[in-house]
Amino acid sequence: MTFTVHGLAVSRGIAIGRAVIVASSRIDVAHYIVKPAQVAGEIERLRHARDAVAAEIGKIQQGLHELSGADAHPELSALLDVHLMLLQDEQLSSGVKHWIVERQYNAEWALTSQLEVIARQFDEMEDPYLRERKADLEQVVERILRVMRGAASAVAAPAAGGDGDPASGTTGVPLVLVAHDLSPADMLQFKQSVFTGFVTDVGGKTSHTAIVARSMDIPAVVGARGASHLVRQDDWVIIDGDAGVLLVDPSPMLLAEYSDKQRRGEVERERLSRLKNTPAVSLDGQRIELLANIEQPQDVVSALNAGAVGVGLFRTEFLFMGRAGKLPDEEEQFEAYRRTVEGMQGLPVTIRTIDVGADKPLDRGAGRTSDDHINPAMGLRAIRWSLAEPAVFLVQLRAILRAAAYGPIHLLIPMLAHASEIRQTLALIERAREQLSASGTEYGPLRLGAMIEIPAAALTVPLFLRHFDFLSIGTNDLIQYTLAIDRADESVAHLYNPVHPAVLQLLASTIAQSRAQGKPVTVCGEMAGDVSMTRLLLGLGLRSFSMHPAQILAVKQQILRCDTGKLSSWAQSVLVAEDPAALMTD
Ligand code: PEP
Ligand code: MG
Repeated sequence: MTFTVHGLAVSRGIAIGRAVIVASSRIDVAHYIVKPAQVAGEIERLRHARDAVAAEIGKIQQGLHELSGADAHPELSALLDVHLMLLQDEQLSSGVKHWIVERQYNAEWALTSQLEVIARQFDEMEDPYLRERKADLEQVVERILRVMRGAASAVAAPAAGGDGDPASGTTGVPLVLVAHDLSPADMLQFKQSVFTGFVTDVGGKTSHTAIVARSMDIPAVVGARGASHLVRQDDWVIIDGDAGVLLVDPSPMLLAEYSDKQRRGEVERERLSRLKNTPAVSLDGQRIELLANIEQPQDVVSALNAGAVGVGLFRTEFLFMGRAGKLPDEEEQFEAYRRTVEGMQGLPVTIRTIDVGADKPLDRGAGRTSDDHINPAMGLRAIRWSLAEPAVFLVQLRAILRAAAYGPIHLLIPMLAHASEIRQTLALIERAREQLSASGTEYGPLRLGAMIEIPAAALTVPLFLRHFDFLSIGTNDLIQYTLAIDRADESVAHLYNPVHPAVLQLLASTIAQSRAQGKPVTVCGEMAGDVSMTRLLLGLGLRSFSMHPAQILAVKQQILRCDTGKLSSWAQSVLVAEDPAALMTD
């Protein structure tokens, strides 16, 4: 029977497919579709791993026996028996085979899919003893996965994690991922994967997981509480990314209705794509700069395809995440930045220095950030982290300076609030230049910018304008810190309000002061890509927007219909209204 789970809409469109439930602990398991000819090989790979684990357990049992006699460790011995039994379990092996043969999942994915199915059954058991066997099953599966990780795969996992595009996947069955939580790094791993949509139980609308989902331009819903428990492996589901709703086990009527909606969305996209080469000029002749937010060098392709006139925000921290604790060295970073700049073919690239911490933790062992329990959003994050790790920061600065010899780079510093931080940052940039000069290494010029994303910074804009060439307003954090709402916490998501009068005051005054001094100012938070905010931002005087490539054409369409002269008086009335949201539809 159909039921719905409500969450937060983070990425537009409709996805219809089979649910793939992935437990948080198994997100790093490879997920890809194998070719029909590889199916037998995958089954063999599993059988081999299972036999190896059985032999391993047999050896432990033997050792126990030799060491201390038959009955010295009855509990341990009984546990190993249970593990051996689970290993041979018919439901496990036939289920795994089903996923490989019917869905052409790779062996690891098939194994964890079946684990989810059986684990649910254990969860529903009345008998506490049997319920506890779930942990044993998880251990057995973990052992098999470990053996498979160690053994060379007969079928190499495709580089991007997928063996083809999802719609034309070998089995032709679209798949949507349902998980309790996904970190931004997990999400990045799923970029170009087989999934056509995402749903998570937790997360806010501007959490970095949601931001990466948006950059993938596929329907996504976060904060859909309970979804990963309510949905079963392989259920048919519909993700309505516009409404923030997940429909489970839809009736034929609902399926027809949403298929139609999906088709209409595709037609609309097709229509928008014709605007790619149209300049973003308002009815009254104001030229608006539309820039792209990117996470990886390869994203420049979608930026150019969307007609972006530059990169307004390269979130470089994604180069530092999901690397098993090893940070990229100067050479690797230089290559990434050079590739990006060259890829943009002479258009400017704004590179933001590393912004780790809060909901973008580094891998364990890769550096110190604030612990989860002491409110990391207010802790050692962004420039605070860089200034606490000057050696790492200098590596990044040198790499960016070197890449600047290959094209126009704007350097953007996140989360500044204090004059002392500005002084330290500028001194380190100077030191990086001196180091490169001393070693005779070529480097290029940089324009320097500061992010305005803490209310303290927005209230001291003249300080920033004195020291920097341009400003970029990070509305995601500016809203979070102004309203004291954790952007990653869905339980307070209803209070996360971009048009709260306090937020609007800070935005308006930052834009006005920058313009008065003739310095460029951009908005690069999610607000810039939200079409319902375009008129207001134009009315407040904003002329430069940076957003995910997927949002550029829709925002451009809004701009083409606007008369900025008329919008400015309206925006002033919104600014002083008690309830600005009520005026937003005027
Ligand atoms: C912001 O805070 O608005 C921003 C663009 O930076 P991030 O989302 O990466 O924190
Ligand atoms: Mg920010």
